[in-house]
Amino acid sequence: MTSHSEPDGEFVVHDLASDCTIGDVEEDLAYLATVNGVVEYGVFVDLSDHVSGLVHESTLEESYAVGDRFVVTLDQIRENGDVAFSPAGIDPEEAAVVTVDHAYEVTSVRDLDEGEEADVEGEVVQIKQTGGPTIFQIADASGIVPCAAFESAGVRAHPEIEVGDVVHANGTVELREGATQLEIESIAALTGEAEAEVRARLDAAIDDRATPHEVDPLVEWPAMEPLLADLREVATLLRRMVLEGRPIRMRHHADGDGMCAAVPLALALRRFTDEVHADDDATRHLLKRSPSKAPFYEMEDATRDLNYSLADRARHGQKLPLLLMLDNGSTEEDVPAYRTLSHYDIPIVAIDHHHPDPEAVDPLLAAHVNPYLHGEDYRITTGMLCVELARMIDPSVTEELGHVPAVAGISDRSSASAMDEYLALAGEAGYETEDVHEISDALDYAAHWLKYNAGKPLITDVLNVDCDDEARHRELVSFLAERAGRDIDVQLDAVLPHAERSRLENGAHLCRIDVEEHAHRFTFPAPGTTTGAVHDRVVEETGDDPVITIGVGPDFAVLRSDGVRLDIPRMVTELVEETTGAGVEGGGHLVVGSIKFVKGRREEVLDALVEKMSEAEIDEELSAAAHTYE
Ligand code: MN
Repeated sequence: MTSHSEPDGEFVVHDLASDCTIGDVEEDLAYLATVNGVVEYGVFVDLSDHVSGLVHESTLEESYAVGDRFVVTLDQIRENGDVAFSPAGIDPEEAAVVTVDHAYEVTSVRDLDEGEEADVEGEVVQIKQTGGPTIFQIADASGIVPCAAFESAGVRAHPEIEVGDVVHANGTVELREGATQLEIESIAALTGEAEAEVRARLDAAIDDRATPHEVDPLVEWPAMEPLLADLREVATLLRRMVLEGRPIRMRHHADGDGMCAAVPLALALRRFTDEVHADDDATRHLLKRSPSKAPFYEMEDATRDLNYSLADRARHGQKLPLLLMLDNGSTEEDVPAYRTLSHYDIPIVAIDHHHPDPEAVDPLLAAHVNPYLHGEDYRITTGMLCVELARMIDPSVTEELGHVPAVAGISDRSSASAMDEYLALAGEAGYETEDVHEISDALDYAAHWLKYNAGKPLITDVLNVDCDDEARHRELVSFLAERAGRDIDVQLDAVLPHAERSRLENGAHLCRIDVEEHAHRFTFPAPGTTTGAVHDRVVEETGDDPVITIGVGPDFAVLRSDGVRLDIPRMVTELVEETTGAGVEGGGHLVVGSIKFVKGRREEVLDALVEKMSEAEIDEELSAAAHTYE
């Protein structure tokens, strides 16, 4: 029994860790065993949770009771798996005890094969309690796999394991509804060196896999160039969220440009999520897209998002999400909502082209992409930006998105130099310029009626991204666009006879309409679109003259302008100071926006507003109709 003692003569016995299997037991070594049963022909002993065997009566020199500990060596493993031990004749009290960790070969979750027993190591990114088993989503360097452990129906298995733990799980690989799942035999949190090693491996793999794809932008456009670097950072961050099994919640402006931003991104993120997750259904839980009616993050939306996120964490064991603001999120008006979320670990990314207030929002943002931050302007629309972002996340989306930047640009009336190229690109994808306009109109119309609903299948068909029925797309778009046009005509017939026209001191035409008294309410077009349509008519009539249109409601006004250098955010700031007790607030783009006030001070606020407009400089460079957008 020389192998049981060290050179100085002290005996060494081995104590198997609870997750050790028979593969960890070596012949010739001595092991601590615990008696778990006494029978006529011997005693049954446990060496770990998974290693048990018989010590035959013929080899026993003493008698034992359940719970007694003594030292054994391996005798034999029979063909049927039964294991026999014999006493080692060592007093455990006088021996040096060495703990043996379970030695196993780790399989990447990507390489799990049905029917095989496997060991995986990774981070628990979600723990969901179903009516049956507990599902642990485990992320390793290669992907994320659901691992099921069953205690009893609806009861949380392994309550000691938490989200964020690095674990070793052993089990059998099975297919559940076509997707790989590990049926857990054992799961244990790793600690110390083993934990650090797995974490380091995981971090390195995520760093590597988060790196976005190198893609050439769809059009060569110097103005876009500095933004591409910012977008690359966001692409890295979003890919990282997917790799870490973290949900992403998108909030996009509920208009054409906002949807042209959100839909391509959702498609790219879904494809990447499918690549990372063995669970086919992962996207449904991890990716949410919701519209924002206002071009900023309303408190109502923020509290709702926060509530859902906290509920998902409690109910489905999800991590808190990253919030992705699209075609909104850059302005001071977003701050209260952002500050609400800042009480929780919810990073926020804004991709926007509204005139930004970086001092106000940047301290609250993990990333902020906005053309104004690079001396560019609204003409680079959010849809144009997000198509490039989507391609960095998953370049396979490119072929479906050829027309999307053009639709985004038309929707926001971008006069960007790249518009011709984007329209040409749409042409190559089979969309005439007229088609692009129709899609834009149809999107606005659909967005109006969808209200707070994301309308995923409908918008998919209207925008024709990830839609498999081209004919349906075309029919639907012409129907919706035609309805939109008809409804706008009906509205214009009602409102135009009541338009009040005047000329400001600076020479601009002023057109005032009352969208409360003289327009159909609670229908399409809403006050903003109505004002825009009236404005377009006036611009058409007046040729190259500067035009300002105000759509007035009981406690709000919508502004559209062409050829006048307005600075609406500044006018609002001044009005707040000058008209105390009028409750003025608002914002938007420089020359297009909206203002809210209290009903009782309406005329006073409007008079002050018109006064400021009449002082605004006329923009000689800009031709009419080149500068209206939302
Ligand atoms: Mn926009």
